[in-house]
Amino acid sequence: MQLRRTKIVATLGPATSSIEDLRGIIKAGADVVRLNFSHGSAADHKQRAANVLAAAHQEGRHVALLADLQGPKVRVARFINNKVHLRAGQEFILDPSMDSESGTEQAVGLDFPELANDLKNKDILLLDDGRIVLEVTSIEDHKVYTRVQVGGPLSNNKGINLQGGGLSAAALTDKDRQDLLSAAEIGVDYIAISFVRSAADMQEARALLQAANSSASLVAKIERAEAIEPNTLDAIIQASEAVMVARGDLAVEIGDAALVGVQKDIIQRARQLNRIVITATQMMESMIESPMPTRAEVSDVANAVLDGTDAVMLSAETAVGDYPSQTVAAMARVCLGAEKHPSILRSSHRLDVPIDAIDESVALGAMYIANHLQGVKAIVSMTLTGATPLLMSRLSSGIPIFAFTPVAATQRRVCLYRGVMTHAFDSENIDNAAINQIAINELKANGSVEDGDLVLITKGDYTKAHGGTNTLKVVRVGNNIR
Ligand code: PGA
Ligand code: MN
Repeated sequence: MQLRRTKIVATLGPATSSIEDLRGIIKAGADVVRLNFSHGSAADHKQRAANVLAAAHQEGRHVALLADLQGPKVRVARFINNKVHLRAGQEFILDPSMDSESGTEQAVGLDFPELANDLKNKDILLLDDGRIVLEVTSIEDHKVYTRVQVGGPLSNNKGINLQGGGLSAAALTDKDRQDLLSAAEIGVDYIAISFVRSAADMQEARALLQAANSSASLVAKIERAEAIEPNTLDAIIQASEAVMVARGDLAVEIGDAALVGVQKDIIQRARQLNRIVITATQMMESMIESPMPTRAEVSDVANAVLDGTDAVMLSAETAVGDYPSQTVAAMARVCLGAEKHPSILRSSHRLDVPIDAIDESVALGAMYIANHLQGVKAIVSMTLTGATPLLMSRLSSGIPIFAFTPVAATQRRVCLYRGVMTHAFDSENIDNAAINQIAINELKANGSVEDGDLVLITKGDYTKAHGGTNTLKVVRVGNNIR
């Protein structure tokens, strides 16, 4: 079986609630599932998480859980008839003082009364992912008067973005704080923070996590114009374990024409800073209703793989689509195809920068050998936290990195790391003199290597096999290994 390096994140929803449905997407290749806290109660997510773990167990796989907090998405309230039709040129008022159920063609309520404070005349508001365009004409108290530039249908609770960014809403709402605690209690592996403005938003989330005694990793969703300013972006990446190129909201704020370049920059920067990166939204959009992707979608997924993303994400495709497992299977197939392209086997990662950590030097040394020495078929990294496999996987390679670990949470966490496979290994209770031979025997038993192949092994030698990787060994399968 061919190992796929790029990981797949599948968002759960009504189409993927039952254990059977979940087994379907896991079998097809879902590595991480996203619990979308924009919908459903904490109890729903808890049940879903339990179902995922059961389904993964039945499939003999490890699947990580990612909780995605809603964040301060500004939305219009509801309309008397659920939907109105706006005409170009007409006036339309966003009025937070209005009853939230009684929107009309003239005016609608608003769930964020402070919106008016962030606006000035001539600002452009984009509703429903940019389908409706409003120009601000005047502001009175908290009422925002606008002229419709691009009209069309507008229904209940559609999102509002400000072109160019700059809405001041803090990334963590009261609901998010509550949901973060629920996610910590569920024991998710990753928590994604929406509409991050700066590193301070991530630090705030980190403090809440620590107070809740959670070891979840944090994902910063890059979906605001101000977050891609280079210094801000670097600081956000460094304050997070992972980032998401959240193309849905990001494209609305910065314009779709800028998106492709920004995606490449975010992916490259995250990898340079030793962080994980997910590329998200509309990757296989047509498969919500069709069993086959468009050529453009195939190309989009493949290009994200060539850009170096760790993972590609499905949203509505697996949450509410008609073909969830077929979509995951199609995505997996396209990733595997793209991974054959020679351009991604080359890497100049950290070639000319000094390295000051011993484990990183060993990790990168291993990758250099793996990519240059003929006959290397696998890398084994004995790890407790997954830190060394993470460092290794920042360097492009075609050689699989096996995270050998006794820690179940690490087995799940590395599910998001490009090129990293996981293997349960009770190294704490294996004698140091025999550990390499036993590791190779297990790799051979599961068909990953055969006699004559070279394998690289990294570990630390101060505390049993783990902690502070400082050793690299090259062994040949079939020989006596010590
Ligand atoms: P969302 O985030 O699906 O929660 O909006 C992703 C995006 O904006 O692309
Ligand atoms: Mn978003």
